[in-house]
Amino acid sequence: MGKGKECYFCGYFSKVTCLPERSCSNLYKCAYCGTYILDNQGFDILRKDENKFKMACVLNERRLKGFRGIALDDETKEGDLVCGFPRISVGELLEQFPQTAGETLNRILLNLSRLALRPFSEISFNFSRNRDNLYLFTKNSNECMTVLDELSEQGLIRDRNSTMEAFRKTLTWRSWEIIDNLKNSAIESKRAFVAMWFDDCMNDYYENGIKKAIEDAGYWPIRIDLKEFNDKICDQITAEIKRCKFLVSDFCGQRGGVYFEAGFAKGLGKPTIFTVKKDDVKDLHFDTRQYNHIVYDSSEDLRKQLYNRICATII
Ligand SMILES: [Zn+2]
Repeated sequence: MGKGKECYFCGYFSKVTCLPERSCSNLYKCAYCGTYILDNQGFDILRKDENKFKMACVLNERRLKGFRGIALDDETKEGDLVCGFPRISVGELLEQFPQTAGETLNRILLNLSRLALRPFSEISFNFSRNRDNLYLFTKNSNECMTVLDELSEQGLIRDRNSTMEAFRKTLTWRSWEIIDNLKNSAIESKRAFVAMWFDDCMNDYYENGIKKAIEDAGYWPIRIDLKEFNDKICDQITAEIKRCKFLVSDFCGQRGGVYFEAGFAKGLGKPTIFTVKKDDVKDLHFDTRQYNHIVYDSSEDLRKQLYNRICATII
């Protein structure tokens, strides 16, 4: 049932298949945005061209990183797969678009490093026929030129006989040095900070739930025991949160420290996954209710849901 059509996000020629199991949805396979399932109704937030463009950039980056396909939804729901694909919230994906100039530059360099077959090998772009602008988090060829000029001015790329058809560039020594550092730092960090109540009643949920889910997903759980919340521990915590790739905040027991750490991480723009036991949902503070919590009833349930969420949303 395959038919040629345009990618919903980037407009590039893509393979679009009607899903027999779900007549209201299509499966898209785009050379840039990867594989995704989209409801025919679409989403209000995606009617804006600006948001379609941001989604294309984020999906393209996920594909380059080797992430598998997803089903787009209003909410991220683990354990409830659509034709084998995890449901991911459109809003959460949009939030992953780089916010600052520094973050944009870092992620452009990482994208370019993934395009190069080997360090210093040539990367070629075609902005007129293809959607190579997405690698640079830019909308059109004009914006691409501005970014390439800036990268060149900063000594980050070198030109290799570009033609009107194709721009050929190599990353410089300086770029590769920055890329190596980024891979060792927070952006590519394997560290996952766990903020939770350190009480014996939570041991099973940590050991058999959170810790195992993080390790299964290929990350290292970092937990700092908050026996006393003094200045020294506070410094250590803020340093660890800065170094980590993402945070898991569990709200059982309503600990002040957990709210502080989650707030601090959010302020830094770190992805934060909220979890809470079924019985504790009623006690959640108003300020975190707006976030989509993983609600669990056993350590095994927590492990499964958290693992799926990490795989689906941490890029
Ligand atoms: Zn696309």
